[in-house]
Parts: sequence; C-alpha cells; structure tokens
Amino acid sequence: MADIDLKCKCGEVTGVATHITPRSGNRVVCCCSDCQAFAQFLGTEADTLDDAGGTELYQTSQSQVKIHTGHENLRSMRLTRTGLLRWYTSCCNTPVGNSMKASIPFFGIIHTFMDIKDKDKTLGDVRAYCQTQSATGQVDHPKAHPKFPLPIYFRIGRQLIFWKLQGKHKPSDFFDETGRPVAKPLIAKPLVANS
Ligand SMILES: [Zn+2]
Ligand SMILES: [Zn+2]
Repeated sequence: MADIDLKCKCGEVTGVATHITPRSGNRVVCCCSDCQAFAQFLGTEADTLDDAGGTELYQTSQSQVKIHTGHENLRSMRLTRTGLLRWYTSCCNTPVGNSMKASIPFFGIIHTFMDIKDKDKTLGDVRAYCQTQSATGQVDHPKAHPKFPLPIYFRIGRQLIFWKLQGKHKPSDFFDETGRPVAKPLIAKPLVANS
C-alpha cells in the first residue's frame, strides 16, 4: 500500500493519494474527445496527452485524494452542463482530475498531478486503454478498446457501491459541506453555445 504525492507543475498545489494499490483503483487511459478537449482548454496537450491523444488516469475514491496546499488555486470546469467536473490548477494550468458530484465517491486523478516514480509497481498495469474510436494516432496497446470495456465498467460500478458503503465520498477537498464544488465550475464557452 502506498501514498502517492500529488503536485501541480509549479508546486503551489500539493496533496497525497492515500492507501493506493494496483487493486484498489483503476489505472486507465482515455482517448475520448472530451478528455482531449480538456487538455486543449488548458493548453497542456503536450504534457497531458500521449501520442494517440490518450489521457492516463488513476480512478480511486474521493476521500483518498487529499489536498494539502494551494486549495485556493483549485479550479473546476465542465465541457457540458451535466458533464464530468474537471479539476485543474489556476497557478500553472495543471490537469488535476475528474469527479462527479459530492455524493459519488469517485475521483480520477490525471497523471499530470501525480508525482510518482515507480508507476507500474504502485498503480499496476493499465487495465483499459479506452475510447480508441476518438484516438488521434496509432494505438498499439493490448488493452485497447473502441469504447469503454464492459468488465471495467462493472468493476467501477462495484467499487463505487463498495466505496459508498464505506462513506468514501467524504471528507472531500473538492466539495464543501453542502455538496457544492469548492471552485464554481466554468462551463466551456464553445460548448455552451451549442447546448
Ligand atoms: Zn501550479
Ligand atoms: Zn475521456
């Protein structure tokens, strides 16, 4: 079991992801156009996306992700009004992660926010290389899937139920007591015009 240091590019925002093992969460890569759009919104495509446009994440429970410094630099946005809440830092535009709402114990930490050396040992292998239908380059990964593979979908579903029973949606450094995001989400402008 490991604690993973979390850090934005400039070091203002730091934290830790606690009690992480390869089995405790899911290391995945997502090539969907929304994850790509988020990197584009921040202007961090080069650091965030791999050669096929994939974003690597480690999905865990909300209460396992703790912010220690730089809370005031946390920002959130949505690509659509009902989409995932996407977190980043205002100090240096580092992608932080994705969450749903306060009551759902889910947090996907984006690799750019993890300060981790032995990734394969700590997080395990990539369980799924998802949404390759939106990939922007050649995908040559053994776990590639055009959409989102069902076994992972069910695995996350089971984990969410388990985490919820354990109360792992709280405490959260991303939502206040009333369940509001600690930083009011921006709605990405070009998409608001279409909705
Ligand atoms: Zn920063
Ligand atoms: Zn995605």
